[in-house]
Amino acid sequence: MDMNPDTTHDGLRGGYPPWRQRQRPAARPMLSGDMRCDVLIVGAGITGSFMAEHLSALGHRTCVLDRERPGLGSTAASTAMLLWEIDASLTELTQFYGFERAAGIYRHSLRAVAGLKKLVEACALPCGFHARTSVYLAKAGADPRELLAEHELRQRADLPGAYLDHRRLLSKFSVSREAALVSPGSAEVDPVLLSQALLARADTQGASVFAGEAVSYETAGRGVLVGLDNGHAIEAGKVVLATGYVMPDWLDMPLHTISSTWAIATPAQAPGTLWRDCALLWEAGEDYTYARTTTDNRIVIGGEDDASLTDQSARDDAMPAKTAVLLDRLAGLWPAALARADFQWSGAFGETRDGLPLIGPVPGRPNMFAAYGYGGNGITFSYMASRMIGRMMAGKNESWFQDLAVDRPMPTRS
Ligand SMILES: Cc1cc2nc3c(=O)[nH]c(=O)nc-3n(C[C@H](O)[C@H](O)[C@H](O)COP(=O)(O)OP(=O)(O)OC[C@H]3O[C@@H](n4cnc5c(N)ncnc54)[C@H](O)[C@@H]3O)c2cc1C
Repeated sequence: MDMNPDTTHDGLRGGYPPWRQRQRPAARPMLSGDMRCDVLIVGAGITGSFMAEHLSALGHRTCVLDRERPGLGSTAASTAMLLWEIDASLTELTQFYGFERAAGIYRHSLRAVAGLKKLVEACALPCGFHARTSVYLAKAGADPRELLAEHELRQRADLPGAYLDHRRLLSKFSVSREAALVSPGSAEVDPVLLSQALLARADTQGASVFAGEAVSYETAGRGVLVGLDNGHAIEAGKVVLATGYVMPDWLDMPLHTISSTWAIATPAQAPGTLWRDCALLWEAGEDYTYARTTTDNRIVIGGEDDASLTDQSARDDAMPAKTAVLLDRLAGLWPAALARADFQWSGAFGETRDGLPLIGPVPGRPNMFAAYGYGGNGITFSYMASRMIGRMMAGKNESWFQDLAVDRPMPTRS
């Protein structure tokens, strides 16, 4: 079977995510002459879509450019759990940056999911959004005291959630692990639908979306001249780079690394056989697994990250073995599941040393902003990036923006 009939230009993903069975995003026109705008957003994935919706709502004449159909980069591969919990636990982040800074970042992340929910509800965006509880599971066989310490730190930071020991976890969620943290405030979504809905709203707010590739960026007067692959150019007052895991060569991002990840979706499960509240399940530890359900009662389970396989053909080759491991993990996590893979897919996946994104001015490039560095809660950070960059453009910098700066120093544990 051809595992890869639908790879992107950049080999960002392969296989079949379930979101693609729905509507294919509309192709956008190519630019037929030069143009000017206030803000050019390069990349129309979920990050570019949040950015386009927000910046056009703020009144910027906004233009968006993508060399693929919008939303069909990594966004289409996303399992789209909208967690406020960050890849680095609060304990780890505290070791890097001290408690006050770490707690502040966690609270901003919690507010970002709440803000995203408000946006979806206020604009009635059709995107399969559901508020969800998250269940952060202790790794099988791990010492539960680590999770208890994380819980106590979260309480000190005013973050919501409860600690469940093995017995309470088993009786409430029928999941057999040493312990878990159960927290409100997360959500799930269909990432392709959300990206489309945001772009449709940006369209109605006057944004223009074009097909084309940005190939050069030059400082020009009080803005940036962006050269396109078809020879035309866009002169923009400001440029936001939202190109996902494909960054321009000249951008130096030492905190960031790319690995690969895999996911599968089962057939629809029989009524009444899914876990309590269709919560988002995810595991502590490096070698983690996570699972969610979909509006059509499938289970999506992912993980198995591998930094040694980075090109799409290697990811495709590994797909059968990774699928088998994920099915095995599903059977261990939720023995009642019909453990079969109707959809299997893989994608490039970015991570930073501290689990935090890279958002803000591009060093040495006036009027350019970056919105990068997204890991397991990338979509939450995409939303956050749009709000931060909107404020930066208005000259309203806040001190915590520095915590996510593109050129922040390499973190070290205290
Ligand atoms: C399997 C998997 C599971 C994941 N699960 C989750 C999850 O559960 N929750 C979560 O929050 N996050 C998750 N993520 C991460 C999340 O999907 C990403 O953070 C998010 O999709 C990144 O979106 P983006 O818009 O920044 O990038 P993309 O969606 O890749 O969009 C970037 C766009 O830029 C375009 N582009 C690139 N270069 C140029 C150029 N020079 N000119 C024009 N266009 C260009 C590309 O064509 C592309 O469309 C997951 C990722 C993967 C792969």
